[in-house]
Amino acid sequence: MATNEYEGVLKKIEELTTNAGQIQDEVLGEILSRNAGTEYLRGFLHGQTEKQLFKKNVPIVTYEDLKPYIDRIANGETSDILLAEPITAFFLSSGTSGGQPKMTPVTAQVTKNCELFRRLYESPVIKHFGDINQAGKRMELMFARPEIETPSGLKAASVSTSIYNESNFRTILPKLYTSPIETIFCPDPNQGLYCQLLFGLIQRDEVVTVGSLFASTVLRGVKFLENHWQELCYDIKTGRLSDWITDLGCRNAASLVMKPNPEQADLIENICNCKSWEGIIRKLWPKARYIGCVCTGVMRQYTAELEFYCRGLPLVSAFYACSEAICGINLEPLCKPCDVSYTFLPNMAYFEFIPVENEHDESIEMKRNDEDTELVDLVNVKAGQCYELVVTTCAGLYRYKVGDVLMVSGFYNNAPQFQFVERKNVILSVDQEKTSETDLSKAVTEAKALLDPLGFILTEYTSYVDTSSAPGHYVLFWEIKGKEGNHCKELDPKIMVECCSKMEESLHYTYKIYRKRNIIAAVEIRVVKQGSFEALMDYYVSKGTSLSQYKKPSCIKSEEALKILDSRVIGKYFSPKLPL
Ligand code: AMP
Repeated sequence: MATNEYEGVLKKIEELTTNAGQIQDEVLGEILSRNAGTEYLRGFLHGQTEKQLFKKNVPIVTYEDLKPYIDRIANGETSDILLAEPITAFFLSSGTSGGQPKMTPVTAQVTKNCELFRRLYESPVIKHFGDINQAGKRMELMFARPEIETPSGLKAASVSTSIYNESNFRTILPKLYTSPIETIFCPDPNQGLYCQLLFGLIQRDEVVTVGSLFASTVLRGVKFLENHWQELCYDIKTGRLSDWITDLGCRNAASLVMKPNPEQADLIENICNCKSWEGIIRKLWPKARYIGCVCTGVMRQYTAELEFYCRGLPLVSAFYACSEAICGINLEPLCKPCDVSYTFLPNMAYFEFIPVENEHDESIEMKRNDEDTELVDLVNVKAGQCYELVVTTCAGLYRYKVGDVLMVSGFYNNAPQFQFVERKNVILSVDQEKTSETDLSKAVTEAKALLDPLGFILTEYTSYVDTSSAPGHYVLFWEIKGKEGNHCKELDPKIMVECCSKMEESLHYTYKIYRKRNIIAAVEIRVVKQGSFEALMDYYVSKGTSLSQYKKPSCIKSEEALKILDSRVIGKYFSPKLPL
């Protein structure tokens, strides 16, 4: 983006946020007037387009409610049963944060919005870090998944795969990114990753940012590098690609640029050969100005480890979006991951919000039905309040619950800014208590603080409810790593037992009451060996999840996934006493 172009985009952000209310009404008006004649909306609005009628008659839905319509279109019926604009393809959501992958319609308007969105979220980044597009290349880890063809002949792919397939992206790729297209589309993600790291290292002096869509993929890259740096250095030294890279596309791409470079290989070897990998990203890519990846939500658990590897380089979470809708951008890219807020863009969809009460204020609160709750418009949300996000889009989603809970942290002009709180549906429950992703994350944060002074870091965790014995109990899987290469074997079991107790103490009131009444048994932490969570990621990727969009589940629901972790357990610890 040229300087005057990004300044123009910053101006556009001012306009959008200043006129948020009016733009929202226009967006809804346009969606309704275009789509009032569809089978879906006719059933509720009888051809009318008034906002009040929409609010009164159109139900709040989940994916399951819209799935029959989407399936009918995928099977060959015309798209106008759901939306007037022709569907050009489908986006496939990752399916790791919310269960099953979902298919959402893509139209020409969606593609246009995606292009505009990219410019909108990049402008604040360029304002703070300079024009990275002119300064050098991005070492971004990207992984496409094969497209699926629906019976109607429409293609379905993850958002990231769709972006990598666009001709615009393919045109700018060689100039702006270190990874050749063949490595992004390599069917074996490990071969693709190896080659992307190799290309990133070969061009290390040109690299101005390192990143991926989500923090977990960047960490996956660093861990892969830990296991493969000697081999990568050998390849760079000799100018020959390792034999296990059998993908022809990758081999061809490599043959075009690889030549023996012993000096570069020695430099990289010296950097990687040191005992501590603190700041390794900065050392390997010395011109990098920031690490770009989403670090909020479920990705927050990776920030401590990422900060260790990038020492001082800012972590930039530039946007908040999902396959179903584009939502917001981060206007303060330098802000710490824990403080990041996303300013909603009123032109991207019509946004409504269901107020969310704190579940644990009283012992057990009866939840209200969505039907009884008045939905709040974008500009009317209140600072400090949590809401569940509901979107109406130009692509056939009407009052659709995304499944994310957000908290209003403030306003930019008239557009609210939100912090991501949690996925709505991730809940541990043995009896009537409900433990959300946030409850769990708070308790884990308290407990893992006990490891810090001993030189250990909790690198990954997840959970599930074990009801194989009565009463049931919460199980946490923890992968722990020594900061200076100290080994988990040296970890004192007493500390792990204390971590279990700390977890229980830090959980909510209802949990503790139930625990004291022996309705729930003691929390268990199962320490798993190094690489277990990589194996979990591999499992989900083998099932079709895009590595670029993978989000580790906070709570494991699949038997197979559970087996993967259980088979790697190296220690089991229980809370020995009742919580206070
Ligand atoms: P998908 O559609 O598979 O890419 O997943 C979208 C989901 O990823 C959203 O509904 C959120 O739960 C999560 N997500 C996306 N962007 C962010 C973000 N910036 N912070 C936290 N979670 C995010």
